[in-house]
Amino acid sequence: MIKIKSFVFSPFMENTYVIHNEKKECAIIDPGCYGNEENGALKAFIENNQLKVVLLLNTHSHLDHIFGNAFVAKTWSVIPKVHPLDEPIYSNFEMSAQRFGIPTHTLPPEPSYTLEEGRSEFLGDQELEVMFLPGHCPGHVAFIHHESKTILSGDVLFERSIGRTDLPGGDHYTLIKSIKEKLFLLPNDYTVYSGHGRPTSIGAEKKHNPYLQ
Ligand SMILES: [Zn+2]
Ligand SMILES: [Zn+2]
Repeated sequence: MIKIKSFVFSPFMENTYVIHNEKKECAIIDPGCYGNEENGALKAFIENNQLKVVLLLNTHSHLDHIFGNAFVAKTWSVIPKVHPLDEPIYSNFEMSAQRFGIPTHTLPPEPSYTLEEGRSEFLGDQELEVMFLPGHCPGHVAFIHHESKTILSGDVLFERSIGRTDLPGGDHYTLIKSIKEKLFLLPNDYTVYSGHGRPTSIGAEKKHNPYLQ
């Protein structure tokens, strides 16, 4: 079994997730912590629960989801894992930060571009299926833990909304196709933990999401 802890970080109100198992191993997904205070909050949670950080995963490479990559990589000696098609977005961190007027003190470390659909990630013996869901970003993935019916969806699907597609590499038609033809094949009772906002479920979004009717 796994437990999920979420944080809301940065002015982008990004959800950072820590998934931990019974052996106290944890995966940090999309660390969006920005600045000492937020880094400290993440570190305190890890330390207070005596967790061992074994995985650093990014659903995609928008800056609000990778702000904390440098801190996490350095603090716990892990290398971020990213889908290869997000390489242009990840590498563009400094320029997009400038575009948003955000000062950057440390650049995110060089990741390992090894996330691929069909190649699961493992937190101990807990399997996280990698599902490729392009549209919001060219190399966007979701992580699915079937045993707990949990989806970490990044910015693909939100409660009653979907990811924006006006940023570089975004494509609305591709996003809708990813959701309707792949994500929505998962059972209705799977919980969706999004990159922003409250958790929802596959069933609720199939029924009520105005962008997907
Ligand atoms: Zn995004
Ligand atoms: Zn985001």
